[in-house]
Amino acid sequence: MEKTLAIIKPDAIKKKLAGKIIDRIYDKNFNIAGLKMLHIQENQAKEFYKVHAERPFFNDLVKYMTSGPVIVAVLEKENAIKDWRNLMGATNPAEATEGTIRKDFGENIEANAVHGSDSPETASIEVPFFFPD
Ligand code: GDP
Repeated sequence: MEKTLAIIKPDAIKKKLAGKIIDRIYDKNFNIAGLKMLHIQENQAKEFYKVHAERPFFNDLVKYMTSGPVIVAVLEKENAIKDWRNLMGATNPAEATEGTIRKDFGENIEANAVHGSDSPETASIEVPFFFPD
């Protein structure tokens, strides 16, 4: 069974969308192997998104991801990484497919409701980042 890291981001938590998003996760037959709410600290956000450190939106992204609590979760199923990315939709909600979480709940290219690991290599770093046990 493959594992991937999901984050319900601050915009979605503020809008009380966590329940709806978790329902969609269960509807697609993921198992939730771990789940917790936390407030990401600035140094953690910088480390988590370090591949984007040189991008012009990096500081805004760190500010946004630390702007309020998030829910981090480990999702488990066959093809979890790809299936969760498909359920999330494209980075920019305006370009996301109908019925995806980002299309339905994302505000803009930054505040786009959810995160998901983009490859097995990334998942193997991101899952223990928040779930070291
Ligand atoms: P993802 O894998 O679909 O989340 O997309 P990326 O890895 O490319 O970007 C990481 C996160 O940075 C996105 O989910 C957005 O929250 C944010 N982001 C990406 N592109 C932009 C951008 O052009 N502007 C801003 N402000 N934020 C962005």
